[in-house]
Amino acid sequence: MIHEILPVGPLQCNCSIIGDETSREAMVIDPGDDIADILAVIQKHNLNVKQIVITHAHIDHVGGAMKLRAATGAPILLNQNDLALLKMLDLQAAWIGMASPGKVDIDHGIGELDKVQAGPLVAQVMHTPGHTEGSVCLYFPAQQKLIAGDTLFAGSIGRTDLPGGSFEKIISSLHEKVLALPDETVVVPGHGPLTTIGEERESNPFLQK
Ligand SMILES: [Zn+2]
Repeated sequence: MIHEILPVGPLQCNCSIIGDETSREAMVIDPGDDIADILAVIQKHNLNVKQIVITHAHIDHVGGAMKLRAATGAPILLNQNDLALLKMLDLQAAWIGMASPGKVDIDHGIGELDKVQAGPLVAQVMHTPGHTEGSVCLYFPAQQKLIAGDTLFAGSIGRTDLPGGSFEKIISSLHEKVLALPDETVVVPGHGPLTTIGEERESNPFLQK
């Protein structure tokens, strides 16, 4: 599996470009910004983007989605519980002092137990509310890899003080769903360095019982 992680935009959101070496089909997760850089990676690997998946509707994760859709023709996928946040992109832009990306349209909703596919690559959708109501993680069982959005970070968890956030819900999402994954699972958080489920189970201060 081809997997390139590109920190994009002023908040350095980890955008994942995941492709299959044989079919060249790919998915892009969280194209928050810097679409020209993302397209350069796609071209370098000669990939055909089939899905644009958004882990949650914060501007740093979704801001470049329409540009990427225009360039690739791929549909944009988001959990429906984040549609209200998606309508607040102008306000979100004002919070962090950046230009609004304009309106973003969703092509398909994704929820718990849905599968997102590109060629033979399959990701299972885990609905993990808490950072936002519609936050999802994407689990690639064959590769033992989790794209965690802003639900889990190395040594920390997503903030819950923004609209739609809930500390109780993120803790229950983490314990009931994320920590149910095997220790070897490599975690790609929405920002910052990679980690593993085992490492976080062991040492993340927010996950100790
Ligand atoms: Zn976020």
